[in-house]
Formats: sequence, structure tokens, C-alpha cells
Amino acid sequence: MTLQGKVALVTGGSRGIGRAIAEALSAAGASVATCHADDPPAVPFPVALALPADVSSEVDVVCLFDRIEAELGTPDIVVNNAGILHEAPLAETSVTDFDRVIAVNLRGSFLVAREAARRMESGRIINIASDLGLLGRENMAAYGASKGGIIALTRSMARELAPKILVNAIAPGPIDTDMTSPGAMSPEALAKDLDTPLARFGRPGEVAALATFLAGPDASFITGQCYGVNGGSVMT
Ligand code: NAP
Repeated sequence: MTLQGKVALVTGGSRGIGRAIAEALSAAGASVATCHADDPPAVPFPVALALPADVSSEVDVVCLFDRIEAELGTPDIVVNNAGILHEAPLAETSVTDFDRVIAVNLRGSFLVAREAARRMESGRIINIASDLGLLGRENMAAYGASKGGIIALTRSMARELAPKILVNAIAPGPIDTDMTSPGAMSPEALAKDLDTPLARFGRPGEVAALATFLAGPDASFITGQCYGVNGGSVMT
């Protein structure tokens, strides 16, 4: 129970990686709030608060923090996990599609982190990027750009918010969630995802384990880093 007494926010906590992180932080003793895009959520929540909030909306993000502060207290741990994927050739990617991916993934991470910086005296921000933010991927230019932006945002925020708030990123490789389900990605993209040394999809819990470590007391000298949980897709 290393996170006993801590308050955590996990964006996009209704499904997949975010849900696994929310459950893991909760199991470590934190009071966990999550947010999700659709209302009502498709599944019941094991967490303290589960609120609808579009992370790309400034108003929604401010209201989200207001509710969490009123009901649980100021967050000590903020996990920027909410994200969307768009797969299309560059020539067929509309401005609307590009802007939406950047708005949810990159602007959303900025808005949530900015609100955290305004309210938190100390704590941890963990940004969920992607190995594609480092590698790039054909037909996923907007997504890759948004995730590369999150890695850059992490480094700047880590410098600016030190020493009170430690900021790190996790760049997962292929993880078995709705985002990587057969309907959500092309067979070609799924085959590429499996072309790693470990040749399998990771489990959401394998990302959650690292997030829990980065949120905890043993990660007290770590900031500005980007860690892969990726089956070897990126080696640095
Ligand atoms: P997922 O299963 O599709 O879940 C996405 C989550 O984000 C859901 O909780 C969804 O809420 C929420 N969300 C989407 N748009 C939102 C918005 N505008 N405002 C608030 N919440 C929003 O995805 P996942 O695979 O768990 O991915 C989680 C994160 O990991 C994403 O940032 C993704 O880019 C990243 N990632 C995933 C993989 C992978 O292979 N799966 C690899 C690398 C990085 P609703 O349930 O309401 O829709």
C-alpha cells in the first residue's frame, strides 16, 4: 500500500491501459478518480470517482479538477492516458482528423498537466505516449506526431516543475486493448505491431506496473524520462 493517502487522476480510465492503471493505483492504496469520453461508461468502475470529461476541452478539464478537489482532495498523481488513434494515409487525412487527434492526445495532456501544475504542491505526472512517437509509422502521422509531442512536453514540464513535481512518460508498444482490436486497426498495422523481439501484444497490467512504480516513493529521483513497455520495439 505504497500510495496510501494519495489522490490520483487517471484520464481515459474506463477501458484498456487507463483502467489497468486506475486499478493498480487503487490496489496500492490511492483514492483514484478517472475520466472518460462517453457517458455513461460501458463498464462499472472500481474507483472512487468516475466522471465524464473530454480532455480536449479546457472547461471540462477545469471542472474535472474542481470535482476531484471537492470530493477527494487535490491530486498527488496525474496520469495522462486518454487517447485516440487515427489510421489513414497522409494524403487522405483531413484537417479535421488531424486536429482531433492532436486535440485529444496532445492538447488534452497539456490541459490536464497545466491544471495539475496550478493546483499540486508536489507529486507526479505520468504521460502515456507511444513507441510510435519515437519510431513513426506509415498511415499514422497524426497519431505519431501527437505522441512525439507528448514526449517533448514531458521533458519541458519535467524541467519547469522540478523539484516539486516529477514528470515522466511511458511509451508503450502494442498492448492488447480496444485500440488494437481487429476492427480498430488494419491487419497490416496489427502485423507490424507484432514485429518486435517479444512478438506478442503486451497486457495493460504490464504498463500499469511501471506507472505504479513511477507514482510511488521509490521513483523519487526520476524525472524527464520516457520508458518503453514495448516488447523490444524501441531499444535506446
Ligand atoms: P482504449 O482502450 O481505446 O481506451 C481509450 C480511453 O481513453 C478510454 O477510456 C476512452 O474513454 C478515453 N478517451 C478517449 N478520448 C477521450 C477524451 N476526448 N476525453 C477523455 N477520455 C477519452 O485505448 P488504450 O489502448 O487503453 O490506450 C490508452 C493510451 O495508451 C492512449 O493514450 C494510447 O494512445 C496509448 N497507447 C496505446 C497502445 C496500445 O497498443 N493499446 C500503445 C501505445 C500507446 P471512453 O471509454 O469513454 O471512450
